[in-house]
Amino acid sequence: MSVTIPRACVMGHPVAHSRSPMVHGHWLKTLGLPGTYELADVPEAEFPRFLTSLRARGYAGGNITVPHKEAAFRTVDRRDDAAEAIGAVNTVWYEDDQLVGGNSDAYGFIAHLAASLPAWDESTRRCVVLGAGGAARAIAFALVARGVDVAVVNRTFARARDVAMHFARASAHAWDELPGLLARADLLVNATSLGMTGKPALAIDLAPLRRDAIVYEIVYVPLETALLRDARSRGHRTVDGLGMLLHQAVPGFARWFGVTPTVTPELRALIEADIRAKSGSV
Ligand code: NAP
Repeated sequence: MSVTIPRACVMGHPVAHSRSPMVHGHWLKTLGLPGTYELADVPEAEFPRFLTSLRARGYAGGNITVPHKEAAFRTVDRRDDAAEAIGAVNTVWYEDDQLVGGNSDAYGFIAHLAASLPAWDESTRRCVVLGAGGAARAIAFALVARGVDVAVVNRTFARARDVAMHFARASAHAWDELPGLLARADLLVNATSLGMTGKPALAIDLAPLRRDAIVYEIVYVPLETALLRDARSRGHRTVDGLGMLLHQAVPGFARWFGVTPTVTPELRALIEADIRAKSGSV
């Protein structure tokens, strides 16, 4: 009797830097499950054909990363509600013969917030999201669905307006409105790429923010950004980006390999060590 070992992959270009094989490989090993999770470096021109032949290539599904998330959105047979609202697909799996596309960033954002601060939603009514890219859109979707008003603040105002138009309870704002918005916020999220290694720092004054407001940084390289340091030193509760990355991997793993994995301190330590090693700080 032949036994099929489930296979999944992360599709991107370039993709060698992806930490997804490390995350899924850790879960396969610690759960003692048969399966593999591979890197698939797929150039843009070849991506639609690669995705539509995923099952024929022996894959149960996979993750999609830069630059293919929008192409995956257009190519799948069907999309889940999150992907539909966010406009990008980062996880695919099969249901019957259909290739389904989902977006797990919204799930990852909330799951990590709830794991870090279980009572977060008791006091969170108003949020400021900095940024209007794919990550900001996922976060706006997640928060609006939980009844939170979201003020989207972005350098390019037209992109903030585009996000706000898609979600009830979301509004668009220019950067110079920030002090007034911060004074009323229960939660501040950095969903720009500012603060990331190689990018300029996020230079904002947290002084108007109430001390009981939560500060959530989704950048995870470096692990501790200037925003997190500043927020901690002012006494804010903080949530970092690495946990979001780990939690967003959970739904895909459960679909391909049939077991819902857990984000453990051991997994976190493994990925932290890799980030530190590659940043040259270890
Ligand atoms: P994206 O679509 O490229 O959006 C980038 C955002 O950053 C835009 O709003 C852009 O503003 C803003 N930005 C970039 N440079 C800026 C500058 N010099 N001044 C002001 N604003 C600037 O990227 P994304 O996919 O949304 O990702 C954003 C960040 O989140 C990245 O660092 C990514 O690694 C991180 N992320 C983390 C997770 C996680 O799981 N922790 C998940 C997804 C993303 P404009 O519109 O004006 O260009």
